[in-house]
Amino acid sequence: MFDSIQRGLSDALKKLRGRGRLTADNIREGLREVRRALLEADVNFTVVTKFIQRVEERSVGQDVLARVDPSEQIVKIVFDELVALMGPVDPKISFAKDRPTILMMCGLQGAGKTTTTGKLGLTLQSQGRRPLLVAADLQRPAAVDQLKIIGQQLGLPVYSEMTDPVQVCRNAVTFAKQNNLDTIILDTAGRLQIDAALMEELQQIDRLVKPDQLFLVVDAMIGQEAANVAKTFNDTLSLNAVILTKLDGDARGGAALSIKEVTGVPIKFVGMGEKLDKLEPFEPEGMASRILG
Ligand code: GDP
Repeated sequence: MFDSIQRGLSDALKKLRGRGRLTADNIREGLREVRRALLEADVNFTVVTKFIQRVEERSVGQDVLARVDPSEQIVKIVFDELVALMGPVDPKISFAKDRPTILMMCGLQGAGKTTTTGKLGLTLQSQGRRPLLVAADLQRPAAVDQLKIIGQQLGLPVYSEMTDPVQVCRNAVTFAKQNNLDTIILDTAGRLQIDAALMEELQQIDRLVKPDQLFLVVDAMIGQEAANVAKTFNDTLSLNAVILTKLDGDARGGAALSIKEVTGVPIKFVGMGEKLDKLEPFEPEGMASRILG
């Protein structure tokens, strides 16, 4: 595993060492190789700097200098640190006992909210829940129809009405109770960029509908920007988990690391394709491998 990064690191260390013993400075230099790999994987710049500092301290502390092949040990430290940072992961969702559980999906437009609402509905249905999908994205006119089609495909009920988002969500709760549906998934509006109006709308739903859990849907392809997006949403809404989408593409997954490091909010699921059965639990080990390339 990580042959290329280990080879690069190994070569760098050999060159630096020259004839003498490897020094802590050599390790610092050698870690540039790891730093380059993380930046290439689109990990946020500040996150990379802090991460490399930690690995450097651990590497020197663990006396990798004495090893025949220190690069192997350093790469292991890097891998372990990545896994520790992105975990622990709990793909389970906790549910209320005597009333419907409300899950609120939020995120930027195009992140994959509507699709993920369907995917989550399907996952929960397969676990024996009775989900209701709620079309609370009244900003993007096509979103309501899109969710209705997804509901039809999955055989899941969809609640919609063209009033205002809070009204839609409130009435959806009543509808769920009347129809014995136990899990309400709110597909809320997004914008192309974060703006005050979007945040105000989401805060209003949060305040008045009181969802049990808030999930942020983030497109893994936005790379470095993911950390800023996650931070802004978390500062305003206090997120429970993140769902990272489009990991079937060629995004290296640096977003996963940045989001967790900057917000502390765990990533619960990943989207692995456009199809509705392509939602998987997040696995830090797999992501660490992907990030290291
Ligand atoms: P929304 O604006 O956040 O509701 O985003 P949509 O759910 O409409 O998704 C935007 C686009 O991303 C659509 O074309 C989806 O099919 C696509 N999409 C969503 N999730 C994934 C994923 O995990 N992988 C891929 N490849 N495409 C996805």
